[in-house]
Amino acid sequence: MILILSPDLTRKSPEFQELMEHLGNIPNIQVRVHEEVGAQQVLTEIYLIGETANLSLEDMRSLPGVERVVRVSREYRVIGRHKDDDRPSEFHYNGVTFSQDNLNVFAGLCAVDTPEHVEQMMKALQEHGQVCTRMGAYKPRTNPYAFQGHGKACLPWVFELAGKYGIRVIAMEVTHEQHVDEIREALEATGHPTGVMLQIGTRNTQNFELLKAVGRQQEFPVLLKRGFGITLEESLNAAEYLASEGNRKIVFALRGMKTNMGDPHRNFVDFAHVPVVKRLTRLPVCVDPSHSVGSREAAPDKLLDIFHVTAQGVIAGANMILVDFHPEPAKALVDGPQALRLEELPYFLEDVAIAREAYERRRALAQRFHAAHGQ
Ligand code: PEP
Ligand code: MN
Repeated sequence: MILILSPDLTRKSPEFQELMEHLGNIPNIQVRVHEEVGAQQVLTEIYLIGETANLSLEDMRSLPGVERVVRVSREYRVIGRHKDDDRPSEFHYNGVTFSQDNLNVFAGLCAVDTPEHVEQMMKALQEHGQVCTRMGAYKPRTNPYAFQGHGKACLPWVFELAGKYGIRVIAMEVTHEQHVDEIREALEATGHPTGVMLQIGTRNTQNFELLKAVGRQQEFPVLLKRGFGITLEESLNAAEYLASEGNRKIVFALRGMKTNMGDPHRNFVDFAHVPVVKRLTRLPVCVDPSHSVGSREAAPDKLLDIFHVTAQGVIAGANMILVDFHPEPAKALVDGPQALRLEELPYFLEDVAIAREAYERRRALAQRFHAAHGQ
């Protein structure tokens, strides 16, 4: 059960003290407090865990400071959608809104290599009105002798270039808690020219200590990739780990499943799960066509498979696209064969806009149908 307190009711207020005292006297109930400090107000939610079945909604609603009560109807307590639950399905970070209702494109380098390539990428993004990108500094690689990423050494110049080209959010994978500190320090040292969304890759979806560490901080939002070989439920529980530690600024990414059934794509494309994740949780949903498809193969209609699956995700309501580009794919140190080329950026963005418009029209159609039929 979740008790949502009146806005701006702080832990110091007498009402809060009184409420906690009351809750403390209920047997077999554990109490967890979550405070969300927004620009406008502080929102406090109290999670009651344990034997809550016998607690009445009415009684709980009448307790001091309580504005609303939500009975948890699904297992994802924090990230889930529950009955009569109108908690937000969006968050804001560094001037960018992440929501189940909008769409952000994160086109960029799978792995940071040279300052020239990073600059060419960011310049192209700015020219086409983009304020988000992806830049990998810490690369988890299958082969220990493969390029592991430039690590913290590249952060200052990557952040400075991002600032120069108006990039507001960089999706950047972290594979260790220490990387979060390195990113924080580099942002401080360069005067915060940009923002970072911490990416947890598919190999770390169930790295619970990493999830807890990233969940404990609330400075950076998190892009959590679905685990490549686990169930959707297990991956959503990983997102719940982040949220239960306090960080609600999560985007959930579908990136395909590792199964030979998906051949000839690198992974079995799972974008049919976009609406499922939106139904089960309040998280914006990202699709990663590059790591799903893994090649630049095209259909006879000349559209690359990467374009086709992106459109499939977007037409199903995806809220974010993470996609590999490279100014010189042949020279890319990681994942060159799946990278789109810079001259394809406006073409890709236009194709995405067509799919998004189709989604918006479909959504309006569904609303008209339900309004007419009273459902
Ligand atoms: C990536 O986005 O560069 C990446 C390694 O993705 P994944 O974790 O999905 O393999
Ligand atoms: Mn990659």
